Amino acid sequence: MIEISVSDRVFVLTGAGISAESGIPTFRGAGGLWRNHRFEEVASPHAWHRDPRLVWEFYSMRREVAGTAKPNPGHVALAQLEGSIGERLFLCTQNVDNLHEQAGSRCVVHMHGELFKSRCDRCDRPPFADTKTYELSASVPRCDCGGQIRPHICWFGEVPYHLDEIASALNGCTVFIAIGTSGVVEPAASFVARVHGRAQSFYVGPEEPANAASFTRVFLGKSGEILPTLFHYG
Ligand code: NAD
Repeated sequence: MIEISVSDRVFVLTGAGISAESGIPTFRGAGGLWRNHRFEEVASPHAWHRDPRLVWEFYSMRREVAGTAKPNPGHVALAQLEGSIGERLFLCTQNVDNLHEQAGSRCVVHMHGELFKSRCDRCDRPPFADTKTYELSASVPRCDCGGQIRPHICWFGEVPYHLDEIASALNGCTVFIAIGTSGVVEPAASFVARVHGRAQSFYVGPEEPANAASFTRVFLGKSGEILPTLFHYG
């Protein structure tokens, strides 16, 4: 049980594991490979410059998988947490799916982008909603400015989004909870170290993350089974 008092500010970080029970494979679960390509080979600026149609085929497959997925009890528990403590919850996800939103979460910070958004690789037109999928033979979509439309995803080697907002929420939190994230992908893996000594920190997932020693307590198990009864409001 995690006690949440009326003055607590809660920072929740979710990773691929929270969506595993909804049928979206984690990178580890997929062995880090798609059709014998390492993920880094299809999810990087280098891959985009070399073969944008292959990149679009990869993200089209991911849009198809995520497009039929439904939130699980773990996502629902976090939406209920927001319902209970409102803006004292900061929900930061490394996931690019929209399962938190589908479960009813209203404020979700997607530090690695969103699968159902695209943007121009040249101009600063804001990211826009986009559910289209492309075959390998299709031409790459173009912006009015002539640039190419790319997935709104933070690729390997790119800087995650919303880092200022995240830093200030980390500075202000009194409870930190990481869920379903292996503790190896930076900068998220270091968030728990940044709250050390100021906040209680908890991990939820079926195996210990690489940074397990930094947490006050680790709850071992599936997030969809643990989260629904984890929070107690003081
Ligand atoms: P990861 O694949 O490195 O690790 C997944 C973690 O989830 C593992 O530690 C595993 O033990 C845990 N896990 C597996 N089943 C679980 C369950 N039922 N409940 C709770 N935890 C469970 O994922 P990561 O640490 O999030 O980092 C990899 C990157 O992968 C991130 O940048 C993320 O953007 C991206 N990614 C996102 C999605 C998605 O949007 N759903 C899917 C795959 C990868």
